[in-house]
Amino acid sequence: MSFLVDYHMHTSFSDGSDTYPAYLEKARKKDLAEIGFTDHITLNPVDWSVQEIDYPVMKENLKSLCNDFSEDVQVRFGIEVDYFEGRELELKQLIAYFPADYVIGSVHFLGDWNFDTDRSLYGKWPNDVLYKRYFKQVQNAAKSGLFDVIGHFDLIKKLQCWPEHDQTELYEETLKILKEADVVMELNTSGIYRPCGEFFPNRKILEMAAKIGVPLTLGSDAHKPEQVARHFDQAVELLKETGYTRITRFRNRQRGEILL
Ligand SMILES: [Zn+2]
Ligand SMILES: [Zn+2]
Repeated sequence: MSFLVDYHMHTSFSDGSDTYPAYLEKARKKDLAEIGFTDHITLNPVDWSVQEIDYPVMKENLKSLCNDFSEDVQVRFGIEVDYFEGRELELKQLIAYFPADYVIGSVHFLGDWNFDTDRSLYGKWPNDVLYKRYFKQVQNAAKSGLFDVIGHFDLIKKLQCWPEHDQTELYEETLKILKEADVVMELNTSGIYRPCGEFFPNRKILEMAAKIGVPLTLGSDAHKPEQVARHFDQAVELLKETGYTRITRFRNRQRGEILL
């Protein structure tokens, strides 16, 4: 697997459970070519994001790892940033602080509701309404020009929030916006361990994305070292089956390609 990348992981700087060296050690064992650390950065700090006081030390530590070319596994500077509609300028300034190789834009909130950890509001609206609201945010995140990658494309399903009606049109409309905005989608393997029980996104969406030509990268969303590159064999097989022949790599917010 020495050609592969894992571009989505969290350390104890945000809500992960270990330090950079522990993840690197695991990545070496998994024979990865590159890994990217993507701790959570939010405009309004929450307990699962990097605290502002830690920004300088995170920046310094991660930057020096990225500049260490003696390693077999190359390290990339990523951040996972929450998108908030109407706050694009603040987000732009926040992102500019970090010398990122790539920026993942994620939607974990609908309004103030942190829907992927807080179950309390499910049932208040039809799930189809939540899908519409969620994917509108994903579309706006893609169009904002702030992000290189959209994180866990269909996260709204995480806690088994399944749509009442077929959402193919909404997925297709959103994927076309990603394509037009030239934003990369990730195949995030963590979903298989969540109540939804499948990757973000699922096979059907991947097939549509491949047809539309949405570029793709790969991430485990590891929150512990042992989760690095989890289910990557299965993920690569799925990508090939759905029509993907290459994945995207990043450095200094410029792209390269890895053939599968
Ligand atoms: Zn996330
Ligand atoms: Zn994440």
